[in-house]
Amino acid sequence: MLKELREIVQRVTASSDLNEAMSELVRKTREAMQVDCCSIYLRQDLEQAYLLAATDGLAAEAVGHAKIPLGEGIVGLIGEKEELINLADAQHHPKFKYLPEAHEDAFKSFLGAPIIHQRKALGVLVVQQKQVRLFEEGEESFLVTLASQLATVIAHAEAKGNLKSPNWHGMLRGLAGSPGVAIGRAWVWRPKVELDQIAERKADDPAVQHARFDKVLVQVEDELDSMALRFKESQASESVAVFEVYQYILKDPVFIGLIREEIERGWRAGSAVKRVCEKQIAQFSTMSDPYLRERAADIRDLGQRLLTRLIHEDEGPVPLAEPVILVADEISATLIAEIPRGKLKGIVSAKGSINSHAAILARAMGIPAVMGIDHSFELLEERTLIVDGYSGELLVEPVASVLREYRRLIAEEAQMDELFATVRNERSVTLDGVTVSLLLNAGLSADTDIAMNDAADGVGLFRTEIPFMMRDRFPSEHEQATNYRRVLTSYVGKPVCMRTLDVGGDKQLPYFPIVEENPFLGWRGIRLTLDHPEIFLVQLKAMLRASQGLDNLSIMLPMVGNLDEVRVARRLLDRAWREVSAETATQQEVIRYPSLGVMIEVPSLLYQLPELAPLVDFWSVGTNDLTQYLLAVDRNNGRVADIYDAMHPAVLRALQQIIDAARRYAKPVSICGELAGDPVGVLVLLAMGYRRFSMNNSNIMRIKYIVRQSRTDELQKVFQEALSHQHTGALKGVFGRYLEERGLGGLLRAGR
Ligand code: PEP
Ligand code: MG
Repeated sequence: MLKELREIVQRVTASSDLNEAMSELVRKTREAMQVDCCSIYLRQDLEQAYLLAATDGLAAEAVGHAKIPLGEGIVGLIGEKEELINLADAQHHPKFKYLPEAHEDAFKSFLGAPIIHQRKALGVLVVQQKQVRLFEEGEESFLVTLASQLATVIAHAEAKGNLKSPNWHGMLRGLAGSPGVAIGRAWVWRPKVELDQIAERKADDPAVQHARFDKVLVQVEDELDSMALRFKESQASESVAVFEVYQYILKDPVFIGLIREEIERGWRAGSAVKRVCEKQIAQFSTMSDPYLRERAADIRDLGQRLLTRLIHEDEGPVPLAEPVILVADEISATLIAEIPRGKLKGIVSAKGSINSHAAILARAMGIPAVMGIDHSFELLEERTLIVDGYSGELLVEPVASVLREYRRLIAEEAQMDELFATVRNERSVTLDGVTVSLLLNAGLSADTDIAMNDAADGVGLFRTEIPFMMRDRFPSEHEQATNYRRVLTSYVGKPVCMRTLDVGGDKQLPYFPIVEENPFLGWRGIRLTLDHPEIFLVQLKAMLRASQGLDNLSIMLPMVGNLDEVRVARRLLDRAWREVSAETATQQEVIRYPSLGVMIEVPSLLYQLPELAPLVDFWSVGTNDLTQYLLAVDRNNGRVADIYDAMHPAVLRALQQIIDAARRYAKPVSICGELAGDPVGVLVLLAMGYRRFSMNNSNIMRIKYIVRQSRTDELQKVFQEALSHQHTGALKGVFGRYLEERGLGGLLRAGR
């Protein structure tokens, strides 16, 4: 049966039309199971009934007409109980409901499985037979397997099909890419020339083709330069790094050489570009690592840009009369840059994740974005959308009351931001006089415009991965030192904590691919760098050199799970320090030995804190990974996003244990995971005793405001009260009320 099952599943999932897929499924299933009838009933919420949607065995004319009200008949019972029903003679079942138009008189035995997607019953899949008999176990599992596959197909098609009605309004769910809410008209972008639109053609004039290619190469380089410049002027410098990837590809002698080779072989310039890009895209797309897959998007974008130039020589800027919500299958950094400033309200992308350049840029620009909305976008053109970048929801043609509510929210947010800005230059101290350090998480995205963060007390986490990821090789010691020096000089007199390379997991280097079954439990962070001391030493030396005369550097190790890792890392740091100190001995300014700390993010460390304490100078809790590893929930997997909870009782208990140990061993401790920037999270952490928080730029001011409105003695009481309630939601509830009582209820949304 496995062969048949596979064949049916393949055919059904490959079909682009739901009705066709369902007809195919009932026909093939009837054949494979050797039954007399197979039917699909779909739940119709509006009509409160199950509608016969496809059948092979019942009267064909009943399809689309025959209905069973919810809760009635055996079909209704299966939907209600959400479990399989196997009956030797269905007509004797008390729930049996006769459907005259379906002509099912002859059928006796009945096997039905619910079609469930994400806990919601979408319909029922039924097989029937004239003979009175109970279906076998194998048949039951066959049907259940089919029903589960069918559920995905139906869920997908339903959402797409809904959009087909011009009057449809409702909600599509994606991933929250960049926080905030935007309301506006959809502007669906399609690349002007797509790679697969180009028919490959030969030419007999390679010299002319080379000249054409040279010309567009310069044009596209100029175009990218001016976009980068626009970003440099208006955005944080890291946005520009995104363009460096494009610039790099265009200047890459291998990439350009391959195109020239194709031209030499007699291909037209456009065909040569297409051939090379498609090969590279195919290579990148098959890589399991999300970061590398994103590189396929960069190549596609560049290729299409070159082709567009080759085909229509004078492409102008995007003409837009009013600000829009940009909707596209795949949104690239260049596309965002192409939209004139002030004309971009929100972003909706079918592809991409939090790793994609579009999401990074959107966050940098403060533009709400929803990613991973997989739908046919032509149907969204010109329609009013609400992009909810907090929840990842996209509302299409919202009704007036919903619009009003979201407008109110936008106004409220603007008001709140104004309010928070008033504390920019104030101290972060609670009403009962407790000083709290608010530090910046930097390095991952463009929100890390280091020089401008005078509201922060320093940098609590500088992630060093991005400059490694944006290159085609490991950056040299000099390149790294220049970069680190820029950060350290922006914070003279304030502490800067630099984390050593934390690649692996979902962050991979394009030139150092790691293929693993289970990358988050694999060769990640310190595990990788200790196996490559040559890489680790270069990074440590670059950090040390960069700190000369500034004395504000501390170094932090990621993903530490056992004490030997710390000991070996310490030895390497000693060596790096001795070597750079010797080299700079003749210079006036000495290089200070930095403090060394670890991220507490691997649960094994929780049980080794007393032994860890004498080995390091400080701890910083990475709640993002600590939550992921304690709860065994992948932090990047949308399917389990509901159970990823940094305020799970187990995580809170771990956090309490860490702060208690920090006090006992007099270890400075901070929180640098996302929980520190969460309005409720920070209150809970304050109540526990934490006083040092590191967060994204966008959160600093609001958290400072919250700190200045709170009293730690009150928070401790609230915390004790919540703990006595013994259920997970209690904590969020009581601290939520604490915020509401201070007029900060609006923040709860952002903290969802
Ligand atoms: C964390 O795990 O909480 C953390 C701050 O590090 P990252 O998000 O870079 O893994
Ligand atoms: Mg981490």
